Amino acid sequence: MNSEEIKQRAIEVGFDACGIATAEPFTNDFARWQEWLDKDYNATMRYMERRINPTDMLQGARSVIVCLMNYYPRETQREGEPKIAKYAFSKDYHFVMWEKLKLLAERIKLKDYAIACDTMPVFDRALAVRAGLGWIGRNNMLINPLFGSYTFIGELFTTLPLRPDEQMKERCGRCHRCLELCPTGAIREKCLDANRCLSFRTIEDKKPLTKEEASHNWVFGCDECQMACPWNKRFAHPNEHKEFAPVTLELEITTLSNSVLRKAQSPFCRSNITKLKENHRLCISNRQNS
Ligand code: SF4
Ligand code: SF4
Repeated sequence: MNSEEIKQRAIEVGFDACGIATAEPFTNDFARWQEWLDKDYNATMRYMERRINPTDMLQGARSVIVCLMNYYPRETQREGEPKIAKYAFSKDYHFVMWEKLKLLAERIKLKDYAIACDTMPVFDRALAVRAGLGWIGRNNMLINPLFGSYTFIGELFTTLPLRPDEQMKERCGRCHRCLELCPTGAIREKCLDANRCLSFRTIEDKKPLTKEEASHNWVFGCDECQMACPWNKRFAHPNEHKEFAPVTLELEITTLSNSVLRKAQSPFCRSNITKLKENHRLCISNRQNS
């Protein structure tokens, strides 16, 4: 099967876009990553220190089939509610992407393959750029000209020698909206300081939110730098995937239990329930006192 046929099958199994990248080793990306680590921008996320090449995913890998799913939701939160990042409205995307990638591998009859969807320390965004699916914006997100940045990325690593797609040019131009509107100043030119980022601070960091951080009213993740982006304002549109029906918006955070979260397969499972409730309490109390 050739590259065009594979991309067609990817759309048939429910992906919104697909491109082909070579499995060549990364060089510049490793250097940039090391610079980022040297500045301690990974905060306490030690697991981010390990990054691997495509051939570490699959011995003899020649190509990577990179797929995107649009997750921009139709639903919105109630005005004033403590905010949840849009990717967390629905079931944990890792399950959805993994199933679809497996289905695609079966449909195109891949024999030797490996799957990743933010589950292994590969450079997912760099692979998506290599596969012609967009560019990495100043907000550090992959921006696709048809969907904006609200997409999940998944890969199939294969030994097939497929014709790769052409890379797109970066199209941020002179825009700096995300840098200007990030509430905590976490975005540096082309990289992000996780120590300041509300996504890290609300989900992974053990330290409680400061009063200032809680004033931005984000309880799980943060979308400000995506909401600011003109590409999203113009091109982000609601997804049509039944797998991304909202599950989290129905949950009452103050009375949540781990069993309810697991049953809903909510992305909240990736955080700590005590931390989530504490973020919620801080956001509400901040609002009441202001
Ligand atoms: S997620 Fe929020 S805090 Fe983090 S860089 Fe984007 S706007 Fe800033
Ligand atoms: S807001 Fe502007 S600078 Fe930031 S990612 Fe979007 S286009 Fe690029």
